[in-house]
Amino acid sequence: MSSAATLAPIDFAALPFEEKLDRFARVAVHVGLNLQPGQELVISATTEMVPLVRRITEHAYKAGALLVTTLYSDDETALARYRFAADASFDHAPQWLADGIAAAFRNGAARLALTGANPALLAGQDSSKVSRANIAASKANKPAMELITRHAINWSILANATPAWAKLVFPELAVDEAVEKLWDAIFVASRATSEDPVAAWKQHGRNLHDRVAFLNEKRFHSLRFHSADGSTDLTVGLAEDHLWCGGGGPSGNGVFCNPNIPTEECFTTPHKDRVDGHVTASKPLSHQGTLIENIRCRFEAGKIVEATATAGADVLNRLISTDEGARSLGEVALVPASSPIAASGILFWNTLFDENAASHIALGQAYETCILDGDKQNPETLAAKGANTSLIHVDWMIGSAAMNVDGVAADGSSQPLMRSGEWV
Ligand code: ZN
Ligand code: ZN
Repeated sequence: MSSAATLAPIDFAALPFEEKLDRFARVAVHVGLNLQPGQELVISATTEMVPLVRRITEHAYKAGALLVTTLYSDDETALARYRFAADASFDHAPQWLADGIAAAFRNGAARLALTGANPALLAGQDSSKVSRANIAASKANKPAMELITRHAINWSILANATPAWAKLVFPELAVDEAVEKLWDAIFVASRATSEDPVAAWKQHGRNLHDRVAFLNEKRFHSLRFHSADGSTDLTVGLAEDHLWCGGGGPSGNGVFCNPNIPTEECFTTPHKDRVDGHVTASKPLSHQGTLIENIRCRFEAGKIVEATATAGADVLNRLISTDEGARSLGEVALVPASSPIAASGILFWNTLFDENAASHIALGQAYETCILDGDKQNPETLAAKGANTSLIHVDWMIGSAAMNVDGVAADGSSQPLMRSGEWV
């Protein structure tokens, strides 16, 4: 059943901010998480996000949540560590906390992460300390993250506009105006502006699922990305039994959720040993508080053999040296250049948004859910099929209105999938 009336736009812009935020909180609880009565919810947020967390908590309890627990971090507190902590601090992470979060997930809790903290918070800090702290945190969080990448529980990520982030996105505006404009962009991209966001998300999910079904039927052996200006010519082999995913889906606990709000991508698992050619990022990458610009990489037999960037090159090189799998791909995703987020023309400096504005690849860990029956297979079998493993999973954008993508079959015959950034 789809009636135009349920999807008609309301005069969202005219609503008071508090009401906009309330609608967005309902999208988080009912679309992102689809929180079930009796379920616990663990939220991660920064102290700047308290107003949204309060609204989400209210709607979570109204939906029957058993208990909502929010773990707050704070930008200034995070910086204090870099200024004053002893060197040993940077190889340390609160294992007890990470174990507790993993235990909560195993016991049926849902997980909500709010993104939007200052993307450049750690830009001026010692990049080796940043990298060591990230590695320590990734190691500690591995058991919890595995439950997420396996999609064992219902989880979601949404964004919260903050002053530092908004100033980076709209440097020409006064900070209040920048925050307001960023919130509006988040509400639009997250489809919170429609009369019935739940119905709007159902329709959007159906469109993505149709595209995914088409790609799954094709069983391509690889994809070839080639841009009009020659800055990218990259062949990305696809893993054996790769599965295209997109939109929401059921998690291991049987709850249908939308892990990313917004989402516009169809994505799958590349073959970790079959990526060759050169690629130029089409957008800068904001990674753990630092900005990496104009990334160019060359791949041979699945691994990056050469990587440059005009800013943040040291961070990039540390990132790809994290572990054995950090130089190989764990995800490839197709997004048309006309996606609503791309159409907004805004560079968000935030992967949740920018990855939905352009086709992209991700270094590091593959998603088991993007391999047929991947959640039932052991790590050796998954690796044999080409699925990569790593402590990192970092998306970076390669698509643009100049990008062409071909689907290549096992016999070498190819079919155009995208021309000038759009689906054929
Ligand atoms: Zn992606
Ligand atoms: Zn990704």
